[in-house]
Amino acid sequence: MVSFDEKDQFALQRAEMVRHHLEGRDIRDPAVLQVMGRIPREDFLPQAYRSQAYADHPLPIGLGQTISQPYIVALMTQCLRVTRDCDILEIGTGSGYQTAVLAGLACRVFTIERHHELSEQAQTALEKFGVVNVEFAIGDGSRGWPETIQFDRILLTAAVPSIPPPLAAQLKSGGVLVAPVGGGAVQDLVVYDKHGDELIGQIVCGCRFVPLIGEHGFRE
Ligand code: SAM
Repeated sequence: MVSFDEKDQFALQRAEMVRHHLEGRDIRDPAVLQVMGRIPREDFLPQAYRSQAYADHPLPIGLGQTISQPYIVALMTQCLRVTRDCDILEIGTGSGYQTAVLAGLACRVFTIERHHELSEQAQTALEKFGVVNVEFAIGDGSRGWPETIQFDRILLTAAVPSIPPPLAAQLKSGGVLVAPVGGGAVQDLVVYDKHGDELIGQIVCGCRFVPLIGEHGFRE
């Protein structure tokens, strides 16, 4: 049970996170700032980490996985250039926090997680927050969404050695894909624009993500 005091505290910390960690750096997209200013990140965290919800670092969510730091969530979302008519594919549901951010900006979000426990926790958190425009799948996201469909935007929240061919194929021409790419402890955050069948990538910065485990990712 959350007391009013705790809710108020979290709201203050959330406003400070937006001001200091997002606007204070290079997050300029007003829609990203607005949506991250209203989503309760604490509700996507295990009880033991709720008090750190608005610190700008990743936190454990179980099964050796992490919720990404708020700045990286904001940066990847900004790089994705989401508009209200976009259908988005997200690989790596994790806690569901990034999913909630995308759902607040897009038409529909399709999200895949390989750990069913995490997917179920995320579904509960998103339901509690009243999000209805998200479809969930459990499995290897490197193989793409399990139906024949193309997306306007694709976001990978785990690192890949290179872009999985099924994901490149499921991105519409004119679409954008954002992914951490590389095999080391530090990877490149890359934004790809699809022109016809070709993906043209641009490195944004270095980043640190857990590996994407799967047929077109890394081995366990
Ligand atoms: N965006 C998430 C959030 O806001 O909590 C954080 C995602 S976490 C950094 C990466 C997630 O990718 C983990 O939950 C991990 O289990 C998942 N993952 C790794 N390989 C995957 C795969 N092949 N298919 C789907 N999910 C995968």
